[in-house]
Amino acid sequence: MACNVSLGELACFFPFLDKSAAYLSRRGLLLDAVLADGALVEKALERLRTSLERRLPNPRQCLDAPDATAAAARLALYIAAATKNPHVLRRFADSESKNFTALLRKVPGIQDPRCKIELARDLGVNARPAGEVAAGIIMAVYNSPVAVRWTSYLRYAPQDPYWAMINRPVVRGWVIVPMEDFERLLEESYEERILQIVRENELAVGKVAMSIDLTQLEDVIKRYSQRPVLQAGQATGGADPPCMEAILAALKKGENLPHTARFAITTYLIKRGWDVEQIVELFRASPDFNEKITRYQVMHIAGQAGGRKEYAVPSCETMNSWGLCPTNLRCGVKNPLQYGRRLAVKKSS
Ligand code: SF4
Repeated sequence: MACNVSLGELACFFPFLDKSAAYLSRRGLLLDAVLADGALVEKALERLRTSLERRLPNPRQCLDAPDATAAAARLALYIAAATKNPHVLRRFADSESKNFTALLRKVPGIQDPRCKIELARDLGVNARPAGEVAAGIIMAVYNSPVAVRWTSYLRYAPQDPYWAMINRPVVRGWVIVPMEDFERLLEESYEERILQIVRENELAVGKVAMSIDLTQLEDVIKRYSQRPVLQAGQATGGADPPCMEAILAALKKGENLPHTARFAITTYLIKRGWDVEQIVELFRASPDFNEKITRYQVMHIAGQAGGRKEYAVPSCETMNSWGLCPTNLRCGVKNPLQYGRRLAVKKSS
């Protein structure tokens, strides 16, 4: 192995790799054993708090007690999921993935680019030393360049012009990136891995929810939760119009909606006070759901990304021209946002 650290230390620095899970399993540190150990549970709760506060866990622990620290980190993830609060889980995943990058750049035994490429493989990122596919000027210009297969690059590159593939050297399907950008791609893939572990281990999360008294985390959950997801119609401004009700119903059934419908419901919910995370959650049932892309698109429409322009809710005329008005313009309003208010006025008169 190109990494110059023990397997236990590796599992401790990067507890959410596949090879870390395999290592812990070989050491007998499976969920039941960890849950039965009060000291490990305490350590997991502490890890959860540390991550949510965006502090880097002390790397010294990985030299002193690597197995316990790695096992506690994995339990901390299940606890974050067991809170059933998507904001807590997402903050934990985000913080842990940033810690991953910090350690990737800091730990002396893993600075060999071949070690980082090995870690990338564990995360499903197809990469190899850039020298194997490119030579000359590219190698001279970039700092420790790495070649990333274009499919992995597109999957993990942030949605930003800096990352557009057109601005990168590409040699026979391999995108050449400097080491710091490669580390950033790994950060994205690590975050996705963390969320994937939760999706694939619902039973384990359920067991943790039954075994650990989550009321002791009330303060954390309260501090890091945004407001609970509002149901349509509960948001400020009265009932939802038939067009938006129809889109919401289709979304909940997991139907594949056209872009126009996705755009319309997003603009509408933003104006009704929903935040980005709540809207991302709503799209989760869509057959082509991609969390990263959805979040970026919702943020873009909310004016929090890209051109920073918040989009208006399409008028009823526009909705009708898109085939999204089930009443054929019979609600007596010009914009779906006016519907709730109009209904409230009618009822009170
Ligand atoms: S008239 Fe306007 S508010 Fe009513 S369903 Fe059609 S688009 Fe929606």
